[in-house]
Amino acid sequence: MTCESPGEGHWFVFRGDQLLVEMGPLERPSDDLRVRARPAWARLPLHKHHNWLGSTANRTLYLGCLAGTDLWAAELSAGSEPPAGMSWEGLRTLFTVLEDGHFALAGRALQLIDWDRTHQYCGRCGAPTEAKRDERVRICPACKLSAYPRVAPAVMALVRRGRELLLARSPHFPPGMYSALAGFVEPGESLEQCLAREVAEEVGVQISNTRYFASQSWPFPHSLMIAFVCDWVSGELRPQASEIEAANWFDVLQLPKLPSKISIARRLIDAVVAQMRGEYAGKA
Ligand SMILES: [Zn+2]
Repeated sequence: MTCESPGEGHWFVFRGDQLLVEMGPLERPSDDLRVRARPAWARLPLHKHHNWLGSTANRTLYLGCLAGTDLWAAELSAGSEPPAGMSWEGLRTLFTVLEDGHFALAGRALQLIDWDRTHQYCGRCGAPTEAKRDERVRICPACKLSAYPRVAPAVMALVRRGRELLLARSPHFPPGMYSALAGFVEPGESLEQCLAREVAEEVGVQISNTRYFASQSWPFPHSLMIAFVCDWVSGELRPQASEIEAANWFDVLQLPKLPSKISIARRLIDAVVAQMRGEYAGKA
């Protein structure tokens, strides 16, 4: 199952949702003091022995072989101190700082660690489960129930009305920031039905003409966000009190503070804004 010629392996070691990395000096990407300093580089620990963490690891999983190097994931307990010369960092900080391939796999490693932690016992009969050697599944030896890693789909809707975009604020957003609407798919629902329901529930408007944009894995803990653009059909904005703090139609040239460029929400908004500006520039 491991690489054909086992040697050193890269390790994704998590404490909660923080990853253990060796980091270069902090650098500020611009002279603007409001821009947060970021490490110049970061890399994963590289070790030859698969028990280098000793008894400190709560669990260790083999992830696979990448370009001849084995990849491992491990979890340490809350409060664990990093080894000398290393530190715990959130995945957001490591975007574009950690090698792209490793950054993408960090989300997978985190999801598999979470799945392993939460499937130690059978959900049907309560017996301890066992890992299968050649497949990513935990099996109950008593009743044979299989527990595979699962992904929870969620949809995102950017609603257009003429030259306006519908953006909303959730109470947990940073001050002043607005984004597209989003919500989890419920059992038995299609993505299109979920979009229509979420938009109707959250802001009280009806939509049509949904167009797929892109999707993004979101490992907190195991979501897949699927983003769409759609058109307003009818209804006035009535924000749902418990979920939406504010919702507004924004002119494409007068948008509020938006989510960071790491998010699919921002990529979706930027793409639609570029397209709309092109449309209106063409008419001017
Ligand atoms: Zn069972």
